[in-house]
Amino acid sequence: MKDWQLETLAVQAGYDPENGAPRVVPIAQSTTYKYKTAAEIADLFDLKAAGHMYSRISNPTVAAFEEKMAALEGGVGALALSSGQTASTVSILNICEAGDHFVALSTLYGGTFNLFKHTMQKMGVSVTFVDPEASVEEIKAAFQENTKLLFGESLSNPGTQVLDFEKFVAIKEDMGVPFIVDNTFPTPMLCQPIKHGVDIVIHSTTKYIDGHATSVGGIIVDSGKFDWTNGKFPGLTEPDESYHGLRYTETFGELAYILKARVQWIRDVGCYQSPQNAFLSNLGLETLHLRMERHSANALALAEYLNNHDKVGWVEYPFLEGNKNKPLAEKYLAAGSGVLTFGVKGNAEDAEKVMNALVLASIVVHVADVRTGVLHPASMTHRQLNEEDQKKAGISPDLIRVSVGIENSNDIIADFEQALSKL
Ligand code: PLP
Repeated sequence: MKDWQLETLAVQAGYDPENGAPRVVPIAQSTTYKYKTAAEIADLFDLKAAGHMYSRISNPTVAAFEEKMAALEGGVGALALSSGQTASTVSILNICEAGDHFVALSTLYGGTFNLFKHTMQKMGVSVTFVDPEASVEEIKAAFQENTKLLFGESLSNPGTQVLDFEKFVAIKEDMGVPFIVDNTFPTPMLCQPIKHGVDIVIHSTTKYIDGHATSVGGIIVDSGKFDWTNGKFPGLTEPDESYHGLRYTETFGELAYILKARVQWIRDVGCYQSPQNAFLSNLGLETLHLRMERHSANALALAEYLNNHDKVGWVEYPFLEGNKNKPLAEKYLAAGSGVLTFGVKGNAEDAEKVMNALVLASIVVHVADVRTGVLHPASMTHRQLNEEDQKKAGISPDLIRVSVGIENSNDIIADFEQALSKL
């Protein structure tokens, strides 16, 4: 299976039915699993045997989805969660305790920014945001004795800023911490962060992976490559009293991080992905390679059209000629994905006027599904951020985010043409 290309893995990986078994991954809508003896279940509790025991911790449908995602990202294991937000939360709290600190890029999705700046802070975990364009010295200065990780997005939402993997991987290596990257926008079809030296990849599977706007979900994929025994991560190397003194690194080797997240975090907190949502997320993966190609082609066509429109002030899309992100996009992305941002010449009210006039594209609090949609981040996804934080995240009042769908590109362009003519 390891030799298959991404497109084949997207269709085939994660499920290999036995003779006479359903060809499509079945939905195992069961909370529990039957065993012949009490001893077998005791061994599962003690982590001496592998197997499903209770669907708060694992489930066969979710496991098939996890295995396929691990294969697509090139990781050793994955854990599917109830949302992208829980994927961020668990990926961090699996290695940070009250009193710890982490460094994150300032160009993050608004919900992630709020989670880090406010909610994590209340839990005793603090964050320092850094400008991705700051110098290496300035970024290193944000690290403290208790810093446990670096966090960024491979293609930022909504700014579509491409992550400079080489710069940040070198920084995290010097600082001895893992690099966690949210790869939601490119998906593994357009970018595989682990190949560029990232340690942990997370996704909001709600977006392109499901791709049809049916299921909220998230996932963490572990590269298995980070050395957790460097003295900074006692939670992984010291005895866990809740498992009779088991040490995760000693017992599970390269799977230490991802198994700890499952058997400790998810056991205690819940928030596992449901079998129904994992079934739909997995179904989405089967066509992800085809959809990402079309999303990217349509987005580039719309970006080029808008860029030449006299009522449009600016357009941001990584593969647009002259865009400041193009060199990094060409280095790290197979294509630009389906999200672009633009500003009409005018103010927030003019932006609203254009959005309200769209017919094919709907106004939705969503991104990355087959239907074209638009959103105004300053008054929607990022409205809880103050003006200064919005600015740091690259959000101006005139910014319209377009999630370009897989409809015919001429129809999408015609819709924007008629909407802009209303200005
Ligand atoms: N990460 C990114 C890049 C996102 O765009 C989002 C949601 O828009 C999230 C994480 C959070 O995901 P979810 O809405 O599935 O919790």
